[in-house]
Amino acid sequence: MQRIVVLAGGIGGARFLRGLKSAVPDAEITVIGNTGDDIHLFGLKVCPDLDTVMYTLGGGIHEEQGWGRAGESFAVKEELAAYGVGPEWFGLGDRDFATHIVRTQMLGAGYPLSAVTEALCRRWEPGVRLLPMSDDRVETHVMIDDPEGDGRKAVHFQEYWVRLRASTTAHAVVPVGAEQAKPAPGVLEAVAMADVILFPPSNPVVSVGTILSVPGVRDAVAAASAPVVGLSPIVGDAPVRGMADKVLEAVGVESTASAVALHYGSGLLDGWLVDTVDAGRVAEVEAAGIRCRAVPLMMTDVEATAAMAAEALALAAEVRA
Ligand code: GDP
Ligand code: CA
Repeated sequence: MQRIVVLAGGIGGARFLRGLKSAVPDAEITVIGNTGDDIHLFGLKVCPDLDTVMYTLGGGIHEEQGWGRAGESFAVKEELAAYGVGPEWFGLGDRDFATHIVRTQMLGAGYPLSAVTEALCRRWEPGVRLLPMSDDRVETHVMIDDPEGDGRKAVHFQEYWVRLRASTTAHAVVPVGAEQAKPAPGVLEAVAMADVILFPPSNPVVSVGTILSVPGVRDAVAAASAPVVGLSPIVGDAPVRGMADKVLEAVGVESTASAVALHYGSGLLDGWLVDTVDAGRVAEVEAAGIRCRAVPLMMTDVEATAAMAAEALALAAEVRA
């Protein structure tokens, strides 16, 4: 049986995983999920990227939106607002609240996040092993200009992304706590035992980059015997969805499919897929020592996504040979 490890963020990672499962239903898939986006709201621990993967693969996702639950209502949010209790910019629905309550209760009882995630997945049966990158708290912060002063200030990633819609320049992206964090149980083992390691079209800075910032993870991926193949989240010099260009700018990387590949580098990547519209960038990636192909990379439906996953696995087999 093929063992596949995927380093995943939220929407891009989750949608890719659905295609991957469809392409190789018998594979044993371990997902290392980003927890840098986690935030405490109303006393509850919210893990947006883990939940997006869990709901998407478990059939509970709001399909059009890409995050949150289908058939959601917002009575709790409205009641909190009536008390004047915010933030109101983070949309937690009633069904979603239940997940965060269960998670917070279990964490309070002393279970590590990895065990809590496993317990939540018992309900959703995502068909993959979903591991948080770490059981330790890591919170991505973004340095922005302080409108009230002449200096800069750090805001939580969700405040930058959701409240500010990345409308102001990100000067730096800092995974606070990462230096002291340890990979969650099973993470390094899964990477070492993998037959293939995939970077889905997830955000290279605040999703895959944050996972790689947990000490030991980057080295384990670089040292793994398995080929590492990534798929570009940048198509036609822009993110397909969202504002990844803003955080790429913060780390000095252009928003092109080739610049992202070079940012990961040949020390990490063996193969890279760009979209057919970026075929002109293949040579640049190959010149950097990364095998590269141009194939359709739009996850319009499960079939198209499964075809992308199959291309990634084919490229992995090619670099292994
Ligand atoms: P987030 O945590 O919800 O932001 O999700 P991820 O980090 O997993 O993925 C976000 C990235 O997915 C964005 O940079 C998008 O450009 C990328 N993305 C979304 N849909 C597609 C798609 O259909 N094709 C490709 N190639 N990338 C996509
Ligand atoms: Ca995310």
